[in-house]
Amino acid sequence: MTTHPVRIVFIISLLLLSLAPLRGQDSKLTGLIIGTEATVDYTTFTESRTANTREMAFDGDLNTCFASWERSYTWCGLDLGTPHVITRVGWAPRVDSHGPQRVLLGVFEGANREDFMDALPLYIIDEQGTIGQLSYADVTCSRGFRYVRYVGPDDARCNIAELEFYGHAGSGDDTRLYQLTNLPTVSIHTLNGEIPYDKIHEIPAQVLIISGDGTHLLNQPATTRERGNYSRTFPKKPYRITFDRKQAMPGTSTKARKWNLINNYGDKTLLRNLLANHLSRLVHMPYTPYAQAVDVLLNGEYKGCYQLSDRVQVHEGRVPVQEMTPADTLGEALTGGYLIEVDAYAYEGTSWFYSDRVNPVTIHHPSDETITPRQFDYIRQCFNRMEQNPSSCLDYNTFLRHFLVGELSGNTDTYWSTYMYKYRNNDTLYTGPVWDFDIAFENDNRTYPINDKPDYIYRSGGSCAGNMRAFVDRIVIRDGAAQQQLLTIWDEVRHHGITADQLELWIDSLADQLDASQRLNFLRWPIMNAYVHQNPVLWGSYQGEVANVKRFLSDRIDWLDNRLGYTYIPYAPESVATVDASGPYLVYDLYGRPCGCFYEHPGSCFYEHPGSTSLHALPAGVYILRHGSSTQKILLTP
Ligand code: CA
Repeated sequence: MTTHPVRIVFIISLLLLSLAPLRGQDSKLTGLIIGTEATVDYTTFTESRTANTREMAFDGDLNTCFASWERSYTWCGLDLGTPHVITRVGWAPRVDSHGPQRVLLGVFEGANREDFMDALPLYIIDEQGTIGQLSYADVTCSRGFRYVRYVGPDDARCNIAELEFYGHAGSGDDTRLYQLTNLPTVSIHTLNGEIPYDKIHEIPAQVLIISGDGTHLLNQPATTRERGNYSRTFPKKPYRITFDRKQAMPGTSTKARKWNLINNYGDKTLLRNLLANHLSRLVHMPYTPYAQAVDVLLNGEYKGCYQLSDRVQVHEGRVPVQEMTPADTLGEALTGGYLIEVDAYAYEGTSWFYSDRVNPVTIHHPSDETITPRQFDYIRQCFNRMEQNPSSCLDYNTFLRHFLVGELSGNTDTYWSTYMYKYRNNDTLYTGPVWDFDIAFENDNRTYPINDKPDYIYRSGGSCAGNMRAFVDRIVIRDGAAQQQLLTIWDEVRHHGITADQLELWIDSLADQLDASQRLNFLRWPIMNAYVHQNPVLWGSYQGEVANVKRFLSDRIDWLDNRLGYTYIPYAPESVATVDASGPYLVYDLYGRPCGCFYEHPGSCFYEHPGSTSLHALPAGVYILRHGSSTQKILLTP
């Protein structure tokens, strides 16, 4: 195909015309150079104030650079004097052998406070730079900023040969902000740049969350600290955010002050907890914690893909029991609500006890600070009574559904940490929510490969707090009624989303949503080929890790069918009422055992196949009716 030369000239001149006004508005910006003062003098390898200063990132010379002395939270930028909307940034790496990777995951920010507490991200560099050359990126952030800066990547000296900011004067607006990926971006800035360092000291912070493809901004004062137990030992730290006032997070209407940023360091799919929450919903747990994958920045440094999540607490939209006060010490008021946790780490806390059968139990609500001795004794007695006689004091419905999520996910930790709660004026203890699945779904070398084991995962050695294994045995191994109930629940959930095909589709869709974020995460934390936490196998890639989870879950469903003696027969629940074809009908119970073969009577009654029992002689209950390739569920009443 040929193109007429005149037409090419015409198109080019149109392009130039359309670009001309933009170029006029968006000039290269200048201002007062600001940033980290302590630099490194590479000739002596000592701290300096005169060598490689921040001015060198703006001197137009690609061979000179700013090089910070400290390895983290170092930056340089411009005070533009008045707000400017930034439309383009440019950068060039330091000229040395490491130069190209020194800019990888560097972040541009804009702010209107000198301390950058209100900063919004402008751009994250997601590939290596080119030595001796400026790279550019368009900025999609419609707010205007007086202060702009480049923050070097985490745990590396900020080394930058040249920086350029383009834009035009104006305060702009918040119609279109920048998200690092398709996921919400959580940007935390702490007072005086202090970094959270333990679980006790709350650091004042400003938390900005950009969501809705850059159209929604939450911007609130808060405090932050580290959180978690074992997960705190990883270099990618988990954090707690406590807002000054209750806030709702993206995708939930629940307003609360406390939220978690879970690091999912040992989970290279970054989706195990999200998947477990999906299973929790599918098995109809009354409350499933909120969880949303997000990208996290701390003081401008990129920290990785995290899971923004509920704190498990008594709260509207969370554990749904009545909140207690220290005045609730008598009569009905004393009876609830409570939130407790059978908890292998109970001894680390303040408010905890050993039960009569030596299970460690942490009391979460009432809190350490407010619980009275009467309340403490009351809930301890409740737990002991329940332990003595689970069939009358434990809600089997929630216990068994929680059990199924634990077994289906192959979670070694199910009874290492088990939440229970109690309502006011109700003697029953309820189980839930499900929590903590980072070593579930075949991510634990102590139990790998799970599906080769004939026994339930909770019965594998050392995975239960206290004597929880014996406790669970009493219900799921030795209580016939509980086993029947478990089977009924399993049948229900097998027909409501717990199939290999449906879960595979769901996981694929989630992995797609996480793809851009996981890429950044594993640039920051290059652990894909390293054993982390309890990893049993290195699958070598994000896709390989996700495929492992899908394969495991598909096999696990078969395993549980087998273990429960259940045969899955698909049926369409909505067609239960009608049987509109002539026989023969094969009838199965929920274990999949054949119960007989029947023909439809002209008068719409069934009569038995010769040699088979009468359909109506079967015990009342739910049965599966198969006719040719179609199956239906029927309820036989007494
Ligand atoms: Ca320079």
